[in-house]
Amino acid sequence: MENKKELRSWLDAFGLNHPLVIAGPCSAETEEQLLKIAHQLKDTDTSVLRAGIWKPRTRPGNFEGVGALGLKWLQRAKEETGLLTTTEVANANHVDLALKHDVDILWIGARTTVSPFIVQEIAEAVKGTDKIILVKNPVNPDLALWLGAVERFYTAGITKLGVIHRGFSTYEKTRYRNNPEWQIPIDLQNTFPDLPLILDPSHIAGKRDIIFDLCQTALDLNYDGLMIETHFDPDNAWSDAKQQITPRALDKMTVDLKIRKVEGDEAEFNNQLNTMRTQIDLIDDQIMDMLGKRMKIVDGIGALKKKNNVAILQVKRWNEVLGRMILEGEQNKLREEFVLKIYKAIHQESINHQKKVINE
Ligand code: PEP
Ligand code: MN
Repeated sequence: MENKKELRSWLDAFGLNHPLVIAGPCSAETEEQLLKIAHQLKDTDTSVLRAGIWKPRTRPGNFEGVGALGLKWLQRAKEETGLLTTTEVANANHVDLALKHDVDILWIGARTTVSPFIVQEIAEAVKGTDKIILVKNPVNPDLALWLGAVERFYTAGITKLGVIHRGFSTYEKTRYRNNPEWQIPIDLQNTFPDLPLILDPSHIAGKRDIIFDLCQTALDLNYDGLMIETHFDPDNAWSDAKQQITPRALDKMTVDLKIRKVEGDEAEFNNQLNTMRTQIDLIDDQIMDMLGKRMKIVDGIGALKKKNNVAILQVKRWNEVLGRMILEGEQNKLREEFVLKIYKAIHQESINHQKKVINE
């Protein structure tokens, strides 16, 4: 697949002067619930109503979706509100049912994108239709797997394509439910600038309070849209209760978000500059995070040295670290002098930390 303008033609056809907004509950629960949310989203920036009908759960026993019955509710919501509809499909049978119920956009879930067999099965099932397909990133941070899934649809003749960034699983618990790993969608955007890129802040955050900031970062990185889980009573939602927001909160958010419009040469320059600055900010966050993690381990070593009555400064080990980092720096086009400066500062701070631990 190559980058082509046609990839974004479906998005341009919306004719929006703001990013595409897809909103709706994690799961369709009842007909009343879905219709109520759809009506609350009508006449807002939201163009597409989302609702999970079949819910892939990491562990069994949680609400697994209402099944095909919910497709009728989606259809009714569309008739009553004029919103387009989207749902997740995870096999060929889901595709057949969704097509029969006139669902406008099909999305591929993160647990499906990881499986080329299933993605291929779904691609065969949508062949010959003019559906819009949005592919969520796979649960694991693998750009090739994500692109591979998109390419399977492209090869099946589907050109109305887009991707949804919903973050990546980590074993280690972080402030996110799914780590954003912004570098992955940024790389994807650099290779396919015309492939619409949509943020799903709900599944990245796992909780309401960081959704806004995630959306702002995405808009600063020139994302094309947002998919946000919304429910009139988030706390009592049957799935993903902690991360859903009300349609009213969403409406306020879309007003407060700063959206950069690209017009004229100067605007284009500022736009590119801001995008790169946002990329740098994200890397700076990572540097601080890693330095913090490094220092925590250093504290652990301090405690161990104290217990065993060992001196803080061990010159041999320090020279080894420095030598390794100078070589590593060379490979990353960083001058020796610069690497030395940074590592001397890190080492000094490590010693300060260990002194503190030992004297406690
Ligand atoms: C969802 O959108 O409700 C969902 C299950 O998402 P994901 O596939 O990203 O986990
Ligand atoms: Mn969900």
